[in-house]
This record gives sequence, C-alpha cells and structure tokens, in this order.
Amino acid sequence: MNSSYYSGAKELEADLVAFMQDIIRIPSLSSEEGPVIERIRQEMLKIGFDEVTVDPMGNLLGRIGSGPYIIALDAHVDTVGVGDLSQWDRDPHSGDIEDGFLYGRGTSDMKGGAASSVYAGALMKKMGIPDEITLYVTSTVQEEDCDGLCWQYIVNEDGLRPDLVVITEPTSQRIYRGHRGRMEMEVSTRGVSCHGSAPERGVNAVYKMAGIIADIEKLNEQLEPHEPLGRGTVTISEIRSTSPSLCAVADGCTIHLDRRLTTGETEESSVQEILDLPSVQAAEATVTVLEYAVPSHTGLTYPTRKYYPSWGMDEDDPAVHSAQAAYGAAFGGETEVGFWTFSTNGVATAGLLDIPSIGFGPGHEEGTHAPNERVEIDHLVRCTAFYAALVKTIAQEQGE
Ligand SMILES: [Zn+2]
Repeated sequence: MNSSYYSGAKELEADLVAFMQDIIRIPSLSSEEGPVIERIRQEMLKIGFDEVTVDPMGNLLGRIGSGPYIIALDAHVDTVGVGDLSQWDRDPHSGDIEDGFLYGRGTSDMKGGAASSVYAGALMKKMGIPDEITLYVTSTVQEEDCDGLCWQYIVNEDGLRPDLVVITEPTSQRIYRGHRGRMEMEVSTRGVSCHGSAPERGVNAVYKMAGIIADIEKLNEQLEPHEPLGRGTVTISEIRSTSPSLCAVADGCTIHLDRRLTTGETEESSVQEILDLPSVQAAEATVTVLEYAVPSHTGLTYPTRKYYPSWGMDEDDPAVHSAQAAYGAAFGGETEVGFWTFSTNGVATAGLLDIPSIGFGPGHEEGTHAPNERVEIDHLVRCTAFYAALVKTIAQEQGE
C-alpha cells in the first residue's frame, strides 16, 4: 500500500539519507555528544521546527505545534565505541551506502531513529501538524551509560511531560511495548586482617563471601518467571578484595551484581532478596545500590541510582492500539507486537515516570553494539512515515 505518509516520506528520502550519513560521520560516545547534537539542531532549524532548544544537560528538544496532547519521539544519540577495528569491513564512521543499507556505528542503535524522527518533523511540516498535537523530537544523551537519565532530567527539571513517548530504538518494524529492567548492586563483607603466616588470628572477608557467592548462583536458578517479561536473572560480574598486603588476611571483599528485572521485581524486592540470603545474614554483609554520577557533555552531573525498572504496556493499552492503527494507515495491515531484549530510555519514561511509551524504530536489535552495524534505508523512510501517521492517528482519536 502506497499511503500519503509513505509517499511523503519517500519524497524526503534524499535529504533524510544525507542527514543520516552526516550524523554517522560524527562520533558521539556518551558524554561526548556535543558535536552531533549541534548538527541535529542545525537540521531542525533548516526544516523549520517551531522551537529548538538544548537543555542544561545537553538534550536537544525540537517542537512542532502547540496542541494539548504532547507526543515525544525519542532517540538517544550517543553510541557505544567501535571495539576491535579489525572486525569492521569498513570505517565505522563511513556512512557508506551499499545494497540499500547505510553502514556505521550507531546506524541501528540508534541514529536511524534520530534521523527518522527529525524527518517525521519535516513530514509534519509538509502535511500540517494537527491542532490537537504538540510534537517533540528529542535527541537525548548518555543513554548507553545510564538508560533513562536524560528523561528523568527532561520531565523533572525541564518540566516537559509528554502524554506519549515513542522510543525509536530498533524494532524490526514491529511495535514494542516494554522490556526487562536491570539494576547494579554491590555486596560487601568485612574481615579482620592479620599476618598471612598466622591466618587463625584474623577473619578472612573472602571466606565470608564464599557462601554468598554460592547462594547467589542458586538464587539465579530459583528466580520465578512473571508474565509478560519472563524470568529475571542475577549474576556476579566482578569480585575484588582488600588487604594491607599480599601477605595478610583479606579485610574486605565486594562483589558486583548485574540483576535483570522482570515484571513485578523492584529495587526494594531485589535488595531484600539478597539481604534474606542465609549467608548474607551470617556474614553480616551489606548491600548497596550503586549511583551513576558522570558529567554530561555540557558538564552537568545529575546523579541517580543504577536502578532501571522493567516496564510493559498492556497489550490492550490505547497507545498500542494507536500504534497499530498508525501502522495500518501508513502501510496497510498489522505488524507484530513484542518486547525488546535490551534496555531503553523507557526505563524512565514508562518505568519510573509512568508515561505511556511504545517502541517503533529502524533497524534490528540483533545488529547493535556489533561490528559492521547497518540499517535498511527503507526502514528510515518507513519510520518517518509511521511517526507522521501516528501523529495524525492520535489527533483523530483526540478530536473524537
Ligand atoms: Zn540504544
């Protein structure tokens, strides 16, 4: 089906692709997004967004329209590093095009979402933004390091609270409605150091940890599945200890836990479950949820706990229905509804802040954080069409 949304997006394809190549050619690790934010800001100004601002954290907010219902199309514009260069068939920042794919670090995770959402703005400018809607296109920062932090800032400090957030991370042209959450904890034991030649005089913190390690391995096997997200997990990602010398009994030991959270598992429940382990009680170990406090590219530090809640919109949520209707308007038919395996800014928008959120974005989750990352150019065009169709669909629903 060749809808006016798709044909409208197709007419913008040359500009969209050139813009996408530009932003792929600008490296943008977390906390180093300044130059790419500036490039996207220039594009928004060229397109004629009604208002373009960069907030104190360095998130770019482009607005079109001023209706009562606020839709935000969100794309984080930081990327992970390129890793082992020898595994890439071409320069990771080439922006090369071949056989309908655009190549480079960040193409699917997720500058494709950024380019398509900015061009959805261009398409809305052409088609006319409905009176019912304010459209924000947000290019956000630091997601790869601390998912959702940018949206905690936008809602709590900028004071922008959308009615719907569309996470434009890759969904293989499906509508996604949530994902598992995660958190980072440390468990610490304390001992009493003494000369290593007479360990019986001291208390070894590493031995106190040994039982805890065994209990955590068992705990992982005992975690119960919860619909719709399945089972959470826990694993030990690091262990370290302290002692006055390598010829002394260890006086401190700490393990780092990577906890993946399913439906219904919270920060409190996950901490309590560790505190309840017999070995943790016997060792009088302490449990700490870690904090993230790294300056953004503007130098602003906005500390938060490393707790990223799971979230899942109901299958029958109006937002999911609107997205499916928009898909039909743009392309005809229906698409699958599913969940991401990885985590997104939805941990904040839906998980912490309770804002209805759905996902639809170019590319595939499977190719992210890997060498030879690429995105289908047709996905960029289709996502541009989809976002415009979603704006119009929601405007109609609001007008009814
Ligand atoms: Zn991402």
